[in-house]
Amino acid sequence: MSKIYKIALMPGDGIGPEVIAESVKLLDAVAEQSDFSFEYTEVLAGGAAIDAQNDPMPQHTVDICKSSDAVLLGAVGGPKWDNLTGAMRPESGLLKIRKELGAFANLRPVAVPPSLAESSPLRPAAVIGVDLLTVRELIGGIYFGRPSGNDGQEAFNTMRYTVGEIERVARVAFEWARKRRNKVTSVDKANVLDVSRLWRDTVKKLHAAEFSDVALDHMYIDNASMQMVINPRQFDVIVTGNLFGDILSDVSATLGGSLGLLPSASIGSGVGLFEPVHGSAPDLAGQGKANPIAMILSTAMMLDSLGESRSATAIRQGLDAALGYNSRTGDLWHEGYKKISTSEMGDLIRTETLKNLY
Ligand code: NAD
Repeated sequence: MSKIYKIALMPGDGIGPEVIAESVKLLDAVAEQSDFSFEYTEVLAGGAAIDAQNDPMPQHTVDICKSSDAVLLGAVGGPKWDNLTGAMRPESGLLKIRKELGAFANLRPVAVPPSLAESSPLRPAAVIGVDLLTVRELIGGIYFGRPSGNDGQEAFNTMRYTVGEIERVARVAFEWARKRRNKVTSVDKANVLDVSRLWRDTVKKLHAAEFSDVALDHMYIDNASMQMVINPRQFDVIVTGNLFGDILSDVSATLGGSLGLLPSASIGSGVGLFEPVHGSAPDLAGQGKANPIAMILSTAMMLDSLGESRSATAIRQGLDAALGYNSRTGDLWHEGYKKISTSEMGDLIRTETLKNLY
C-alpha cells in the first residue's frame, strides 16, 4: 500500500494562502508520479485565527499539527492586527507553535545559482556559488531567558543556555555538515559573554567526542557578520544561538536578492514546521505578485525530512531549470525579462519538476 502523509496546512495571512496554494499543486503533481500521497488538513493561524476565534494559535490548530507528519506554514500578520499586543499578536502564535512542537533548530539554507547572481546587492562574483546553511537555536537564549523585565526606568533580558540545549542544536549542525561539505562554523561572542564561553566549550567537546571527521571553526558574531558580506562562499554550515542566528540569517538572506527565495525548516524532537523566511507581504497580498519560490523550497525541505529525497531533488532541479527561462516574479524582475505572476511561476516550476520524475 502506498504511503499517505498527513500534512497540516497553515496558510495564514497576506500572501501566505497564495504561495501555499502553489506548494499544494506541486505536491499533488509530484505524488501522482510517486508511490505516496498527501492528506491535507487546513488549520487557522495568525490574523485569520484571531478573526475567527480570537486566538492567534488555537488549541485545535496545535492538536492537528501535533498529529500530522509535517506542517506547512505560509506567513502570518498584517496591518489589520498591528494594534494588538502581547499574546494576541499573530506572531506570538508562531512562537507558541514552535515551542509546542519542540522545534529547537531553525534551518535556513541560502544558495545563489548563477541565474540569480545579478539580483544580489553584492557583486555577482562574490555570491555566485554561495551555498550555506544556518542552524539557529530557536526556543532558548535571550528571547526566552528569565528573569526579564522593564519597569520603565530599567529593562533587562537574560541570555541563558544549558549544555543540553547547546549539544542538541550543535548535533543537528554536525549531522547536516556530513551531508554537505563537512564544515561547521560555530558563531558566538566568547570574548565577552560567559554564555558564549559555555557554547564554545560545549561545541568543542561534542566535536571531539562524536564529530571529529567534520571540520570545525569558531567565529565571533561581529566578524561572522562581516565575513558574510565579504566572502560568504567560505561558509558551509553555521551554528549559533537564537539572537545571533536571527540577525546573521537575515544578513545571509540578502545574498540572493529577494526574501521571496528563502525557505526554512524548524525541526526538533517532533513534527517539523516548514515555512518561508518572509512575512505576509501586505503590499503584495491578493495581487498574484508574490514569489512562490521560498514556499516551494520549504516544501522540498519537508519532503527531505519525510525521507522523500528523490522528489525534493526533482523540485530543486525543476526550480533551477525554471530560472533558466527569462521569466521572473516582480521581486526579481529586470529589463529583458518577462514579468510573471505567482501562479505562472508555480506552473513553470511544476512543469520542470515533473520532467525529472517521469
Ligand atoms: P515581509 O517579509 O512580509 O516583507 C518584506 C518585503 O519583502 C516587502 O517589500 C515584501 O513585498 C517583500 N516580500 C516578502 N515576501 C515576498 C515574496 N514571497 N515575494 C516577493 N516579495 C516578497 O516583512 P514585513 O513587511 O516586515 O512584515 C509584514 C508582516 O508579516 C508583518 O505583520 C510581520 O509581522 C509579518 N511577518 C511574519 C513572518 C512569518 O509569518 N514567519 C515573518 C516576518 C514578518
